[in-house]
Amino acid sequence: MSTEFYKKILDNNKKWVESQLALDSEYFKDLSKGQQPPLLWIGCSDSRVPANEIIGAKPGEVFVHRNIANMVVHTDMNMLSVLDYAVNVLKVKHVIVCGHYGCGGVKAAMGNDSIGIIDNWIRHIKDVYRLHNTYLDSIVNEEQRFNAFVEINVKEQVFDLAKTSIVQSAWKNNQELFLHGWVYGLNSGYVTDLNVSFNSGVDLDEVYQLKF
Ligand code: ZN
Repeated sequence: MSTEFYKKILDNNKKWVESQLALDSEYFKDLSKGQQPPLLWIGCSDSRVPANEIIGAKPGEVFVHRNIANMVVHTDMNMLSVLDYAVNVLKVKHVIVCGHYGCGGVKAAMGNDSIGIIDNWIRHIKDVYRLHNTYLDSIVNEEQRFNAFVEINVKEQVFDLAKTSIVQSAWKNNQELFLHGWVYGLNSGYVTDLNVSFNSGVDLDEVYQLKF
């Protein structure tokens, strides 16, 4: 990071504060009172997919968790803690898993190169490929196969969310909670709803359905 860039971002912050206060002198005072976001966003760490910006959401409207390739790994304490807090304390109504075409993590999962410790994270994405390898291997065009893999990965992460004890317990208690899967187009800016929306666990394979 160049020194200039570093200075610029600090300066940008000052300008942003001033412009927000010019619109509403109580803006930060009001925000500091608490948050009640209606949405939890689980997205990729990719710098080109900023959660708030692409959906025009203001501070206070989105609770955010991001990792490489927007994964819902059921032993990930970070993700589970964010999900638990969002569902049980903030009472969000919607959880969106948002993947994106051109995802480097998904691309890496299609190949065999060792990159480092990240190989172990990418493993989770490879497991998704193995689950759908008959379909994915049947797509001859590599770019089309890559796009299909991105979409399938999002769908599997939505299913994985539905399998968590946190989400199943909320549904059991008749808490209103909708899960959605989206894909973002880096070259268009548009999101596509993959229509994997869930609001109960009845569509899950029986082995995953918890009895409370
Ligand atoms: Zn990505």
